[in-house]
Amino acid sequence: MDTVEYLDPEKNFVVYDNYKLHRKATNSNKMTRWRCQQCKSISITVNSDDLIVRKPNGETIHNPKKCTKYFPVQKVCIIEYERLKYEAQTDHNFSFSKRYREIL
Ligand SMILES: [Zn+2]
Repeated sequence: MDTVEYLDPEKNFVVYDNYKLHRKATNSNKMTRWRCQQCKSISITVNSDDLIVRKPNGETIHNPKKCTKYFPVQKVCIIEYERLKYEAQTDHNFSFSKRYREIL
C-alpha cells in the first residue's frame, strides 16, 4: 500500500497522482476520505497509518477541463508555501524575511 502525501501541516489536503484532494470526512474507524474538489469524482480512502486503502478504480477520471494537474516542482512549492503559512499563523516570532533566507 502507498503512503499518502500531505500538502499542508494541518493535513487538510493531500496530493494523489499529482492532483490535489481535499479532506471530506473521517469515519469513526479513523478512515479519512479525500476528494478532488474540482470534479468531485476522484476520491481515495486513507487509514490512520496514512496508508491509501482505497484508490479510484481506473474507470473514473478527472475532468481535463476542470481539474488542475500539478507538475512535481509545483507540488514541492505548495508544500513549502503551506508550511510557511502555517508557521505564520502559529509561531508568534515568525519572521518572513528570516524564513525566506533559510529556505532559499
Ligand atoms: Zn478532479
